[in-house]
Parts: sequence; C-alpha cells; structure tokens
Amino acid sequence: MLEVNGLATEEQILKVFPSIETINKGPVAVIECFQKIPCNPCTTSCKFNAIDMGDDINNLPQVSSENCVGCGVCLGKCPGLAIMLVDGSKSEDYLHMSIPYEMMPVPVKDSIVKGLDREGNYLGDVRVVKVLNSKSLDRTLVVTLEVPRDLLYKFRNIEVEVE
Ligand code: SF4
Ligand code: SF4
Repeated sequence: MLEVNGLATEEQILKVFPSIETINKGPVAVIECFQKIPCNPCTTSCKFNAIDMGDDINNLPQVSSENCVGCGVCLGKCPGLAIMLVDGSKSEDYLHMSIPYEMMPVPVKDSIVKGLDREGNYLGDVRVVKVLNSKSLDRTLVVTLEVPRDLLYKFRNIEVEVE
C-alpha cells in the first residue's frame, strides 16, 4: 500500500492502464502517479492535450488515450519517472514497453537485460528494442523493451549488468 511501503496496490495500477484494445492500436502513455502533490510537467509537456489534471495542480493526472500519440516526451519530463508507454501493435506475443531510465550502464540496442517488477524482483530477460537519448527528454533515456504479454501489469524496470 502506498502510504505504508510506497507501492501502489494492484487495483490502483490496473485502473491507470487503458483497455487491451487501446493498447493493441499503438503506443499510449500510462501514468502511475498516485500521490496528490503540486506537480504538472507531464501536463505542460504534452502538445497533444492528452494529459489533464483539471484546475488544481495537486490533482492526479489523467491520460486521454484518444489524444495520446505515444510520442514519449512526457516520460522524460516527469521527475518521478512515473510514466511509461505501452504498445501492443507490434506482435501477438510481445508488447513494446518504454520506460524512463536514468541509471548506468546505459542499455544497448538488441542486448538482453533483466526485466524487473515494481519492487525490483526479477521477472525474466527482455530484449532492448530502442534507446532514445534526446535533448527534449532532459537527459532521461527512454528505453523500449520487448516484453511478453503476460507481464503487462508487472513489468516496470530493467537491470543492466556491468560488463
Ligand atoms: S506520450 Fe506524448 S502524446 Fe502521449 S501523453 Fe505523453 S507527451 Fe502526450
Ligand atoms: S510530472 Fe510525474 S510526478 Fe508530476 S504530476 Fe505528472 S506524472 Fe505525477
């Protein structure tokens, strides 16, 4: 539970995911921001008006999956690394899941890294599809991984081994 151990419940996580039908159409942002704090770079960075938090900066951000084009800009702007992209349009077996990443070493395209859940537990190995390092992302990398579909609600991070 968030108040006790800083972790969102399964119910909270499921609520912020769009439907599988939406995910299968293409990349869409998922925001796991569950604490009311005065923060809004996600909203102001989205040129497509896909993130709304109403009139109060303390409100929780809500994604409009209809407006979201999956550009990934908001991933690099969120100080809490709370946003990822999920894309089910690539394969019947795998999803492309893009996460913000600020650790070292930097993952390499096509390498195999450890897939982790929200608590840092190992889920299985995943392939690095893309590593985006753009000025517009404020030096936060966006790493896209090929993740088995059954890990959709579990996968959240990676561990890259030092060579
Ligand atoms: S991925 Fe792009 S379009 Fe979607 S919410 Fe983030 S900034 Fe907006
Ligand atoms: S920028 Fe991140 S932490 Fe701040 S409100 Fe948006 S999702 Fe939450």
